[in-house]
Amino acid sequence: VKSCTKAGTGCGGCMPLVQSIFNKTMLEMGQEVSNHLCSHIPYSRADLYNIVAIKQLKTFEEVMKACAKNPESLGCELCKPAIGSILSSLYNPHLMDKPVHELQDTNDRFLANIQRNGTFSVVPRVSGGEITPEKLITIGQVAKKYNLYCKITGGQRIDMFGAKKQDLLAIWTELVEGGMESGHAYAKSLRTVKSCVGTTWCRFGVGDSVGMAVRLEERYKSIRGPHKFKGGVSGCVRECAEAQSKE
Ligand code: SF4
Repeated sequence: VKSCTKAGTGCGGCMPLVQSIFNKTMLEMGQEVSNHLCSHIPYSRADLYNIVAIKQLKTFEEVMKACAKNPESLGCELCKPAIGSILSSLYNPHLMDKPVHELQDTNDRFLANIQRNGTFSVVPRVSGGEITPEKLITIGQVAKKYNLYCKITGGQRIDMFGAKKQDLLAIWTELVEGGMESGHAYAKSLRTVKSCVGTTWCRFGVGDSVGMAVRLEERYKSIRGPHKFKGGVSGCVRECAEAQSKE
Protein backbone atom coordinates (compact mmCIF):
# COMPACT_ATOMS: atom_id res chain seq x y z
CA VAL A 1 0.00 0.00 0.00
CA LYS A 2 2.81 2.39 0.91
CA SER A 3 4.72 1.95 -2.36
CA CYS A 4 1.58 2.28 -4.51
CA THR A 5 -0.04 5.23 -2.75
CA LYS A 6 2.77 6.89 -0.71
CA ALA A 7 0.30 6.81 2.22
CA GLY A 8 2.12 6.66 5.54
CA THR A 9 5.48 7.70 4.08
CA GLY A 10 5.43 11.26 5.47
CA CYS A 11 4.68 12.08 9.08
CA GLY A 12 2.84 8.80 9.67
CA GLY A 13 -0.29 10.54 10.97
CA CYS A 14 -2.50 8.72 8.46
CA MET A 15 -1.21 5.25 9.37
CA PRO A 16 -4.07 4.29 11.75
CA LEU A 17 -6.56 5.06 8.96
CA VAL A 18 -4.48 3.20 6.33
CA GLN A 19 -4.19 0.22 8.70
CA SER A 20 -7.93 0.11 9.36
CA ILE A 21 -8.78 0.29 5.60
CA PHE A 22 -6.19 -2.44 4.94
CA ASN A 23 -7.52 -4.69 7.72
CA LYS A 24 -11.16 -4.24 6.65
CA THR A 25 -10.29 -5.07 3.05
CA MET A 26 -8.33 -8.14 4.11
CA LEU A 27 -11.27 -9.38 6.22
CA GLU A 28 -13.66 -8.84 3.30
CA MET A 29 -11.31 -10.93 1.16
CA GLY A 30 -11.59 -13.75 3.70
CA GLN A 31 -8.08 -13.30 5.15
CA GLU A 32 -7.25 -13.59 8.84
CA VAL A 33 -6.22 -10.29 10.45
CA SER A 34 -4.30 -10.24 13.72
CA ASN A 35 -4.48 -7.25 16.07
CA HIS A 36 -1.85 -8.66 18.40
CA LEU A 37 0.55 -6.11 19.80
CA CYS A 38 3.65 -7.91 18.47
CA SER A 39 5.11 -11.38 18.09
CA HIS A 40 5.59 -11.61 21.89
CA ILE A 41 2.15 -10.48 23.10
CA PRO A 42 -0.87 -12.35 21.70
CA TYR A 43 -3.33 -9.58 22.67
CA SER A 44 -4.38 -6.22 21.26
CA ARG A 45 -3.17 -3.11 23.09
CA ALA A 46 -6.67 -2.52 24.52
CA ASP A 47 -6.91 -6.12 25.79
CA LEU A 48 -3.41 -5.90 27.29
CA TYR A 49 -4.39 -2.68 29.09
CA ASN A 50 -7.43 -4.40 30.63
CA ILE A 51 -5.43 -7.48 31.70
CA VAL A 52 -2.74 -5.32 33.35
CA ALA A 53 -5.41 -3.25 35.14
CA ILE A 54 -7.53 -6.20 36.32
CA LYS A 55 -4.61 -8.38 37.42
CA GLN A 56 -2.86 -5.33 38.91
CA LEU A 57 0.44 -6.17 37.20
CA LYS A 58 3.05 -3.61 38.24
CA THR A 59 6.27 -4.44 36.37
CA PHE A 60 7.38 -5.40 32.86
CA GLU A 61 8.39 -8.86 34.14
CA GLU A 62 4.97 -9.45 35.72
CA VAL A 63 3.26 -8.42 32.48
CA MET A 64 5.45 -10.76 30.40
CA LYS A 65 4.87 -13.64 32.84
CA ALA A 66 1.10 -13.17 32.69
CA CYS A 67 0.63 -12.23 29.02
CA ALA A 68 3.59 -13.13 26.78
CA LYS A 69 3.84 -16.27 24.67
CA ASN A 70 7.24 -16.81 26.28
CA PRO A 71 7.11 -15.59 29.94
CA GLU A 72 10.89 -15.11 29.97
CA SER A 73 10.84 -12.89 26.86
CA LEU A 74 12.72 -9.58 27.00
CA GLY A 75 10.23 -7.91 24.64
CA CYS A 76 10.86 -5.73 21.60
CA GLU A 77 10.65 -2.12 20.44
CA LEU A 78 6.86 -2.53 20.05
CA CYS A 79 5.80 -4.14 23.33
CA LYS A 80 8.36 -2.49 25.66
CA PRO A 81 7.21 1.14 25.19
CA ALA A 82 3.56 0.02 25.00
CA ILE A 83 3.86 -1.74 28.38
CA GLY A 84 5.78 1.27 29.74
CA SER A 85 2.95 3.55 28.63
CA ILE A 86 0.25 1.27 30.09
CA LEU A 87 2.04 1.09 33.46
CA SER A 88 2.43 4.90 33.40
CA SER A 89 -1.27 5.42 32.62
CA LEU A 90 -2.38 3.07 35.40
CA TYR A 91 0.11 3.71 38.22
CA ASN A 92 2.10 6.83 37.23
CA PRO A 93 5.45 5.52 38.56
CA HIS A 94 8.31 8.02 38.51
CA LEU A 95 9.88 8.09 35.07
CA MET A 96 13.41 7.72 36.39
CA ASP A 97 12.59 4.69 38.60
CA LYS A 98 14.85 1.84 37.55
CA PRO A 99 12.20 -0.80 36.67
CA VAL A 100 10.32 1.50 34.28
CA HIS A 101 13.06 3.83 33.02
CA GLU A 102 14.34 1.44 30.39
CA LEU A 103 10.84 0.89 28.98
CA GLN A 104 10.39 4.54 28.02
CA ASP A 105 10.73 6.06 24.58
CA THR A 106 13.93 8.02 23.86
CA ASN A 107 12.32 11.40 24.58
CA ASP A 108 11.02 10.34 27.99
CA ARG A 109 14.38 8.79 28.91
CA PHE A 110 16.34 11.95 28.10
CA LEU A 111 13.69 14.49 29.27
CA ALA A 112 14.02 16.17 25.87
CA ASN A 113 12.68 15.82 22.32
CA ILE A 114 14.94 14.20 19.76
CA GLN A 115 14.99 16.17 16.49
CA ARG A 116 15.71 15.44 12.83
CA ASN A 117 19.48 15.76 13.15
CA GLY A 118 19.79 13.67 16.33
CA THR A 119 20.13 16.67 18.66
CA PHE A 120 17.52 17.39 21.34
CA SER A 121 15.20 20.25 22.20
CA VAL A 122 14.59 21.33 25.77
CA VAL A 123 11.44 23.03 27.08
CA PRO A 124 11.16 24.27 30.68
CA ARG A 125 7.66 24.55 32.15
CA VAL A 126 6.12 28.02 32.02
CA SER A 127 2.78 27.48 33.78
CA GLY A 128 0.01 29.53 32.18
CA GLY A 129 2.68 31.35 30.13
CA GLU A 130 3.62 33.42 33.18
CA ILE A 131 7.38 33.93 33.58
CA THR A 132 9.71 36.21 35.55
CA PRO A 133 12.54 38.31 34.05
CA GLU A 134 15.02 36.21 36.09
CA LYS A 135 13.84 32.98 34.47
CA LEU A 136 13.94 34.57 31.02
CA ILE A 137 17.54 35.62 31.68
CA THR A 138 18.43 32.06 32.82
CA ILE A 139 16.91 30.61 29.65
CA GLY A 140 18.82 33.17 27.56
CA GLN A 141 22.10 32.43 29.32
CA VAL A 142 21.68 28.67 28.88
CA ALA A 143 20.75 29.08 25.20
CA LYS A 144 23.77 31.31 24.59
CA LYS A 145 26.20 29.05 26.46
CA TYR A 146 25.12 25.88 24.62
CA ASN A 147 24.47 27.62 21.29
CA LEU A 148 20.76 26.70 21.20
CA TYR A 149 18.20 27.99 18.66
CA CYS A 150 15.18 29.47 20.48
CA LYS A 151 11.56 29.40 19.39
CA ILE A 152 8.43 30.53 21.23
CA THR A 153 6.02 27.59 21.08
CA GLY A 154 2.26 27.63 20.54
CA GLY A 155 1.89 26.74 24.22
CA GLN A 156 3.53 29.97 25.44
CA ARG A 157 6.90 28.55 26.38
CA ILE A 158 10.44 28.71 25.02
CA ASP A 159 11.84 25.75 23.13
CA MET A 160 15.63 25.49 22.90
CA PHE A 161 16.80 23.40 19.95
CA GLY A 162 20.11 21.82 19.04
CA ALA A 163 21.14 20.47 22.44
CA LYS A 164 23.75 17.72 22.30
CA LYS A 165 22.96 14.56 24.26
CA GLN A 166 26.09 14.94 26.36
CA ASP A 167 25.04 18.51 27.37
CA LEU A 168 21.52 17.64 28.53
CA LEU A 169 22.47 16.98 32.15
CA ALA A 170 24.40 20.28 32.42
CA ILE A 171 21.59 22.20 30.68
CA TRP A 172 18.94 20.81 33.02
CA THR A 173 21.16 21.38 36.06
CA GLU A 174 21.45 25.08 35.17
CA LEU A 175 17.74 25.41 34.42
CA VAL A 176 16.76 23.69 37.69
CA GLU A 177 19.16 25.92 39.63
CA GLY A 178 17.36 28.85 37.97
CA GLY A 179 14.06 27.61 39.49
CA MET A 180 12.72 25.76 36.46
CA GLU A 181 11.57 22.20 35.79
CA SER A 182 10.82 20.10 32.73
CA GLY A 183 7.77 21.17 30.75
CA HIS A 184 7.18 17.51 29.75
CA ALA A 185 7.11 18.57 26.08
CA TYR A 186 7.84 14.93 25.18
CA ALA A 187 5.42 13.16 27.53
CA LYS A 188 2.01 11.56 27.22
CA SER A 189 0.67 13.86 29.91
CA LEU A 190 -0.32 17.51 30.36
CA ARG A 191 1.85 19.78 28.20
CA THR A 192 0.64 23.35 28.75
CA VAL A 193 -2.35 25.41 29.81
CA LYS A 194 -2.25 28.54 27.69
CA SER A 195 -3.86 31.76 28.91
CA CYS A 196 -4.59 35.33 27.91
CA VAL A 197 -3.87 38.12 30.40
CA GLY A 198 -7.50 38.25 31.58
CA THR A 199 -8.72 40.66 34.26
CA THR A 200 -5.17 41.40 35.43
CA TRP A 201 -4.42 43.62 32.41
CA CYS A 202 -7.11 43.37 29.75
CA ARG A 203 -9.97 45.90 29.90
CA PHE A 204 -12.41 43.31 28.49
CA GLY A 205 -11.48 40.56 30.94
CA VAL A 206 -14.18 39.10 33.19
CA GLY A 207 -12.10 36.27 34.71
CA ASP A 208 -8.61 35.69 36.12
CA SER A 209 -7.48 33.55 33.19
CA VAL A 210 -3.78 33.50 34.12
CA GLY A 211 -4.52 32.43 37.70
CA MET A 212 -6.87 29.67 36.53
CA ALA A 213 -4.38 28.46 33.89
CA VAL A 214 -1.54 28.31 36.43
CA ARG A 215 -3.75 26.43 38.90
CA LEU A 216 -4.83 23.92 36.25
CA GLU A 217 -1.29 23.38 34.94
CA GLU A 218 0.16 22.92 38.43
CA ARG A 219 -2.70 20.58 39.38
CA TYR A 220 -2.50 18.25 36.38
CA LYS A 221 1.18 18.34 35.38
CA SER A 222 3.09 15.05 35.74
CA ILE A 223 -0.01 12.85 35.57
CA ARG A 224 0.80 10.47 32.74
CA GLY A 225 -1.89 9.03 30.52
CA PRO A 226 -2.45 7.26 27.21
CA HIS A 227 -2.05 10.54 25.26
CA LYS A 228 -0.70 14.05 25.60
CA PHE A 229 -3.17 16.81 26.33
CA LYS A 230 -3.18 20.61 26.40
CA GLY A 231 -5.46 23.24 27.87
CA GLY A 232 -6.29 26.91 27.57
CA VAL A 233 -8.11 29.58 29.57
CA SER A 234 -9.51 32.79 28.09
CA GLY A 235 -10.69 35.74 30.17
CA CYS A 236 -13.75 36.48 28.05
CA VAL A 237 -15.71 35.37 25.01
CA ARG A 238 -13.11 36.85 22.63
CA GLU A 239 -11.10 33.68 23.25
CA CYS A 240 -7.58 35.07 22.79
CA ALA A 241 -6.09 31.90 24.39
CA GLU A 242 -7.85 29.68 21.81
CA ALA A 243 -9.01 27.45 24.68
CA GLN A 244 -11.85 25.90 22.67
CA SER A 245 -9.41 24.30 20.21
CA LYS A 246 -7.51 22.45 22.95
CA GLU A 247 -7.86 18.75 23.70
S1 SF4 B 1 -9.90 36.70 25.76
FE1 SF4 B 1 -8.79 38.45 24.85
S2 SF4 B 1 -10.18 40.18 25.10
FE2 SF4 B 1 -10.88 38.55 26.48
S3 SF4 B 1 -9.88 38.94 28.46
FE3 SF4 B 1 -8.55 37.56 27.32
S4 SF4 B 1 -7.11 38.97 26.28
FE4 SF4 B 1 -8.84 40.17 26.88
